[in-house]
Amino acid sequence: MTVHQLKIGDIECAALQEGESDLIAANLAQRYPGVSKAQIDAALAGRKPSGSLNLLYIKSGSTRVLADVGFGESTPGMGGALRGLDSLGVAPADIDIVYLTHFHGDHIAGFFNAAGEPVYSNALYVTTQAEWDEWTGRWAASTAATDQQNLTRFTVLRDRFKLVNAGDEVAPGVSVVDLQGHTLGHSGLLVQSGSDRLLHVVDILHQPFQFENTGWHFSFDSNPELAVATRRKTLQRCADEGILTLFYHLPFPGLGKVTVDDGTFVWNPTA
Ligand SMILES: [Zn+2]
Repeated sequence: MTVHQLKIGDIECAALQEGESDLIAANLAQRYPGVSKAQIDAALAGRKPSGSLNLLYIKSGSTRVLADVGFGESTPGMGGALRGLDSLGVAPADIDIVYLTHFHGDHIAGFFNAAGEPVYSNALYVTTQAEWDEWTGRWAASTAATDQQNLTRFTVLRDRFKLVNAGDEVAPGVSVVDLQGHTLGHSGLLVQSGSDRLLHVVDILHQPFQFENTGWHFSFDSNPELAVATRRKTLQRCADEGILTLFYHLPFPGLGKVTVDDGTFVWNPTA
């Protein structure tokens, strides 16, 4: 099953599995600098590494929001999110807002089709100012063909982007949460309706063993120290508030609650 529907008060949500990525799940000792394979194996404790990509679809009133777009159909083994949307009766052109939590490939590669056109053709595109600045700056400073292509494709669409900051409302009951560190403008979404809430914390961690080892940073973190601080602060918030939480890379659907046991964070999947 690649679609998990839930309601947050009056707001309809669904976790959509885009696919499973070896980029996240394989060669873990290379993904966690300074951590040995023996330490990784001990931390896995027989668990399989997670490579899931869990997108969040939100329908608030008549506004349809998709948080991140995955790798997209042209990447082998991916494209599950589009199939999931189709099963909900939602076509790409029906999406009103595409929210980009950050500009790593596993979150944005599916933005364009093979012809280089936006897949979600009618949407307003939303990301943080800091994220836009980090990546347009990085791409402009790079000579790599893919970076130059991204720079051209995204800057052409600049007028269709709305750049936001933490606390801004993206759609009714859906607001931006600062999660800086994994990238400089990495952000999540808080979905709130009545007393029901869902916090999408995206890439504050990538494997379940990081609940116990919050100081292990991921090789793609733009600012490792800030990523660690944000991870700890956000996990503590999730535990303190007992809030339903979604992680982009934990085993599908990536939904559950964080608790603290004897000073260690514990993941309690709810589905
Ligand atoms: Zn990611």
